[in-house]
Amino acid sequence: MTIDRNVDLAPYTTFGMHAAAEYLVVVTSRDELRQALVWAHEQTLPWHILGGGSNVLLTGDVSGLVIIMRLMGREMSTDGDDILITCGAGEVWHDIVTWTVEQGWSGLENMALIPGTIGAAPMQNIGAYGVEQASCFVSCDVMDVATGIVTTFDRQACAFGYRESVFKHALRDTAIIVSVTYRVHRSANLVTSYRDVADELRANGVDTPTPRDVYDAVVAIRRRKLPDPTEIGNAGSFFKNPVVSREAFDALTATHLDAPHYVQADGSVKLPAAWLIDTCGWKGYRSGDAGVHARQALVLVNYGSARGAEILDIAQRIQADVRARFGVELEREVNVW
Ligand SMILES: Cc1cc2nc3c(=O)[nH]c(=O)nc-3n(C[C@H](O)[C@H](O)[C@H](O)COP(=O)(O)OP(=O)(O)OC[C@H]3O[C@@H](n4cnc5c(N)ncnc54)[C@H](O)[C@@H]3O)c2cc1C
Repeated sequence: MTIDRNVDLAPYTTFGMHAAAEYLVVVTSRDELRQALVWAHEQTLPWHILGGGSNVLLTGDVSGLVIIMRLMGREMSTDGDDILITCGAGEVWHDIVTWTVEQGWSGLENMALIPGTIGAAPMQNIGAYGVEQASCFVSCDVMDVATGIVTTFDRQACAFGYRESVFKHALRDTAIIVSVTYRVHRSANLVTSYRDVADELRANGVDTPTPRDVYDAVVAIRRRKLPDPTEIGNAGSFFKNPVVSREAFDALTATHLDAPHYVQADGSVKLPAAWLIDTCGWKGYRSGDAGVHARQALVLVNYGSARGAEILDIAQRIQADVRARFGVELEREVNVW
């Protein structure tokens, strides 16, 4: 295990901002992770964990120790008709999805091509096209930062919600996910109700889809719709879709009859943040190398040498506009460091 000093983090996040880590270490085992945490503790330095860096905006140099999570490994066991897969936190999420689909197993196919690592997936309960990782989640092994002891959390202990978990709140900065176990199925139980997916399957002439068909449809849709971070720096959706009360929604439709919306089981209403931002005229905005993607109002982009502070400034101006026009608060999905 080597601890390097003054390392440029541009290659470690999908936004690609240049910012220096005071110290950086790549950990490939639980023991190395423990050693890294002890080292940071002894130096009285803060520590920060980074997986694929696809949900982080760097607004300046990072003091302390940046720990790059690269705990690899896959294990599988069967449980009746289901398969339990346990993956190291550093495994690449999309590689695991692809592997399960190649075996003909279903459960993760709607979440193909989400960037990042397995260990970060429970953190914000990633999801796409009508499915969240929580639907396949069995448990995760979590290292307590103070003691180095690993315990197993079941789904209930993780308190998953829409882009939410206990790791984002009560356990932020005190717990690190070191492996995750998912349940996938030999018999397909596919979710194809999401409009884009249904349309893509129809366009492909698929009537009775397999997990592979859904995976291919999702990959094709995402390649068409989302900017590739290897071409334009970004971190996917910058904001969460806001959920408002029925009364707030009724007030909003008094002036915006056409507002797209999704009524939730509890009567509250989810609004597409992209529509709110687009309606405020932000889509395609650019100032220097920082901007809002021309086709995806929810995605803020770094066209080259934007600084994190410039992206954050645009984000704050968008939030202010949406608040003033709709009375709706946009919450950031991206972690700002
Ligand atoms: C083009 C693009 C499309 C995207 N599409 C989606 C989408 O459809 N749905 C979706 O939900 N998200 C999406 N995202 C966001 C992102 O891919 C996910 O949030 C992903 O899970 C982040 O993984 P990561 O390894 O890159 O995490 P990082 O960005 O490295 O870290 C994110 C946060 O998790 C913490 N963290 C990382 N690893 C661990 C660990 N092992 N234990 C504890 N904390 C940890 C970090 O400290 C940080 O706070 C997209 C991003 C991009 C760039």
